[in-house]
Amino acid sequence: MSARWIEVADGVHVRRHEELDLSLGLVVGDDACLVVDTGGDEAQGAEWAAAVRAVTPLPWTVVLTHAHFDHAFGTQAFLPCPVLAHPNCVDELVVEGAEDKDKWAAHYDAQNQPEIAANIRATRIALPNTLVSERTAVDLGGRTVEIAQFGRGHTDHDLVLRVPDADVVFAGDLVENGAPPAFEGSFPASWPTALAGLLDLTGPDTVVVPGHGEPVDAAFVAAQRAEIAAVVELTRALTAGSVTLEDVFRDSPFPAEATRRAIGRLTGRNRSAR
Ligand SMILES: [Zn+2]
Repeated sequence: MSARWIEVADGVHVRRHEELDLSLGLVVGDDACLVVDTGGDEAQGAEWAAAVRAVTPLPWTVVLTHAHFDHAFGTQAFLPCPVLAHPNCVDELVVEGAEDKDKWAAHYDAQNQPEIAANIRATRIALPNTLVSERTAVDLGGRTVEIAQFGRGHTDHDLVLRVPDADVVFAGDLVENGAPPAFEGSFPASWPTALAGLLDLTGPDTVVVPGHGEPVDAAFVAAQRAEIAAVVELTRALTAGSVTLEDVFRDSPFPAEATRRAIGRLTGRNRSAR
């Protein structure tokens, strides 16, 4: 698994993975460290844990930004430790975890990557043991990490982390760099509101770490928020009959596949699911 470190602020590290362009986070305090997301399977989680151990011997707390496999399936490798997540994250791992394992293992088989597929199949899904419904803070000694939830967006349980002394925000998949936002299973109508909450945590110099891709700034997040809002507006016009589906695909800021998923979530029978 090819990966490299970048240090976005003093003691705030991002592990950039070639696979899925995934970004995992590490915040190091005086007495403890905090790990943001755990990778896509137990083997990847073990690699990630070893990479963290090469940086710091301090005890860790894990925070899961959301339940999707690439962010949450490596947790077992970090246990025993506190694992923080939103209650709906636990729900999704319990209800959909086994199915997600099958789905993504099949995906990697189809991509001719049997090793990753086998690692996903062998993964024991570990559940978060510390629930964060709205806001909390984790004291790492000499620095605090704030954790907040701003309503439905990429999922119904996205957690956002902020390291105030370093002016860094971890956005999970509420923000994507290098690919369109992932709308599958998302809540596009409220996603812009969630991003407004995230943007309230930022200033002109804030480093925002997306779940995928290189770190960005607040202006990038604001632009992505406007793009998501634009798709929501276009879909409203579509359901009101004032534009055609062709118009929506032409005017959408996103490629057809992402636009199709967004429209589906806004109009389909699953729009208020969960
Ligand atoms: Zn995701």
